[in-house]
Amino acid sequence: MNASFDCDLLVRNAYVITLDEERHVYPSGAVAITGRRIVAVGPDAEVGRYAAKRTIDAGGGAVHPGLTDAHAHITLHTTRGAFPDSPSESQAQDYFTSWMQAVDDDDEYASTLLGGLEMLRNGVTCFLEPGTAYEPDAVASAAQRIGIRGSVCDAYLWDRESPEFHHLDRAPADHARAMKLLGGQLVRNNDPDALVRGHVGLYGAATATDELMRAAKAAADENGAILSQHQSFFASDVADDDERFGGHPLAHYAEIGVLGPNCTFAHMNAVRDDETRAVVDSGLTMVWMPGNYMFYGVAEFFPQRMAELYHLGSPVALGSDVAKVWGFGEQGYLGFLLARAHGQFLSAEDIMDMASRSGARAAGLQDQAGSLEPGRLADLVVRSVNVAESHPPANPVRDIALIGRTKAVDTVIVDGRVVLRHGHATLVEDEEIFSLADASAKRLAARVALPPATIWPEAT
Ligand SMILES: [Zn+2]
Repeated sequence: MNASFDCDLLVRNAYVITLDEERHVYPSGAVAITGRRIVAVGPDAEVGRYAAKRTIDAGGGAVHPGLTDAHAHITLHTTRGAFPDSPSESQAQDYFTSWMQAVDDDDEYASTLLGGLEMLRNGVTCFLEPGTAYEPDAVASAAQRIGIRGSVCDAYLWDRESPEFHHLDRAPADHARAMKLLGGQLVRNNDPDALVRGHVGLYGAATATDELMRAAKAAADENGAILSQHQSFFASDVADDDERFGGHPLAHYAEIGVLGPNCTFAHMNAVRDDETRAVVDSGLTMVWMPGNYMFYGVAEFFPQRMAELYHLGSPVALGSDVAKVWGFGEQGYLGFLLARAHGQFLSAEDIMDMASRSGARAAGLQDQAGSLEPGRLADLVVRSVNVAESHPPANPVRDIALIGRTKAVDTVIVDGRVVLRHGHATLVEDEEIFSLADASAKRLAARVALPPATIWPEAT
């Protein structure tokens, strides 16, 4: 064998779903990896002949690009399941704000470790933190420890109070503070191999003045970075935007020149007719959070339009926001059903595209990740065939997006390293993560003074 056909890691005997430009699949395929990157993808009869230091036999299971959660408040992940689930009770006290007030660096670290483990176990290899981590270093060190890719920005940058604004002692709505911190995490991008990168982030949802928006877009443009924010989430922030702009916010943003392909805007639940062209023409990536749309009853105010916008050509990525009553990797399935409920259709292939290619784009990695191609970062997922939901294997893409979903994830490779094997983290003990996260959540629950966990009486 010629020395040039050596590689570090070979995944073979796999149904390889490349998500490359032409969306090739290799029913009997292999992927060769050297260092951080993919060196070859193709038929097992060819690529399977690489001489590898380590070989993983996929046993005929699917192999696909790692997925991106393009909007994950990973430092608030430990809130899951903690707050009352009836709208009347959870609105009576803003538990989220109390929790955000109470978290410290250790809590953010523990929450990121748990969220990172759960992401890997569900085939998510990259996340974008949308600006609610007080200490991005805590997020970065936890992500590096477990081996997941991420992008972080500075916390709670805002300079006006709007319905989605939370009063936080550590992060007042202050223009000078926001300007001072803006783009502070971009320094991470000086290392081209950084596992955790930086982007420009505003909190958004009507909490920024035009002056701050312009500064944020300029910082993103000058540094070749992404600008992320919440946008047009709920009736209240949309009404506030409509009033202050005397028109609809996305049309206004197009007018003042702050929309572009480097924008990653989350929610986007209200896109009115005069905003549609602005959104589609700008090339901005929308982060769709169908779980949240349903959880908060947004349909009462704004019809579901994401499938329609996607078919008009807008890139749509998927995000879990805060994982309230769901896990990572489930938004595509929820989105498929939500679209069907509104008489629209997205195929399983569309859902896979959103989770992989558009997810990478949302994180600013469209040339680096999101597909299995030579030269791309080696971020990939190997699935087991030993899962009942995955049989019969009529259509592996539909199985991944809609049927077996995340159950069959067996092995995950990020940056060329095996970070999950047979469902367990390889760089950290799972048990350590659970005990850190559980202890943190327990401390926080006490500080926030949550009501009893269940409405049923606890017998002693
Ligand atoms: Zn959010």
